Amino acid sequence: MFEISRRDLVLGAAGAFAAFGLTRPIAFIGAAQAQTAPTQGFLKYKVGDIEVISLYDGVWEKPHDENFIKGVSVDQTKAALKAAGVTDAHVPIPFTILAVRTGGRLVLIDSGTGSGQIGGPKAGLLLQNMAAAGLDPKDVKTILVSHFHPDHIFGLMAKDTNAQTFPEAEIVVSATELKWWTQPVDAIPAPRQGLAKRIQATLPTWKNVKVVDGEADVAPGIRAIPAFGHTQGHTAHLISSGGKQLLATADATNIQALFVKNPGWQAAFDHVPDLAVETRKKLFDRAIADKTLVAGYHWGLPNVGTIARDGDGYVFVAGVG
Ligand SMILES: [Zn+2]
Repeated sequence: MFEISRRDLVLGAAGAFAAFGLTRPIAFIGAAQAQTAPTQGFLKYKVGDIEVISLYDGVWEKPHDENFIKGVSVDQTKAALKAAGVTDAHVPIPFTILAVRTGGRLVLIDSGTGSGQIGGPKAGLLLQNMAAAGLDPKDVKTILVSHFHPDHIFGLMAKDTNAQTFPEAEIVVSATELKWWTQPVDAIPAPRQGLAKRIQATLPTWKNVKVVDGEADVAPGIRAIPAFGHTQGHTAHLISSGGKQLLATADATNIQALFVKNPGWQAAFDHVPDLAVETRKKLFDRAIADKTLVAGYHWGLPNVGTIARDGDGYVFVAGVG
């Protein structure tokens, strides 16, 4: 459906395709590899005429916690991680930003952890991996924000000063998301008030922020698709070119090993849990019906592939077919 250059393929797959005697990249990279540190921190591919680069911003090794998934014990969580072939010593939550070359400009979807301002000591590799991919942050003209959680927006602001990292870029945000985070802080649940204060001190005061409401074209070939639930204004992005499509699902799920397989599991990160479950199923069913490629922010590299139904849940198959 879309092409990965042979060079990227060979580097990205560490020769795995050759080992399997394959001439093209199909589902040879499983979930296990996707959730460990990739050998190369970026992956380039095409959606029609549009070049997309997945950029690895490191991984948060989240300690186990009984309250992480509603009604699911740590033992069940460990079993699911093990079944997917990933470590169960902690919950490995990678961060993956998309860079898109479209209409003669460079667009980012989300901005990462801000050199590890959040996500622990193994987060913060975005700038390093942009450089490795040949991308200059100065060329970024547009940043599409999926939602305002720290691992998606701290890349927009400097650690101590909140100074803008991308003052020359247009930053596109959802009206619903902005409205929720800028309501009186007292109305926001206590654990999120600190973040709300930082947001209120930054995004609404910046002159280069563009607010969009509902479905909207936000860059050439990129459409914002409301996908509420993870947060009140959480937004997916549909990249379309030449009859090909890639649905960037952001945090419609957290890691695939747990939440693609079990779409009914509700992580503590979801603000409106029942709506988050409904939205994730809707997005995946749409991707299956439309034969659309999908990407997830927390799926690790490679974070791009297809979704299929698998019993009561879904399975993500990395790569292209
Ligand atoms: Zn996230």
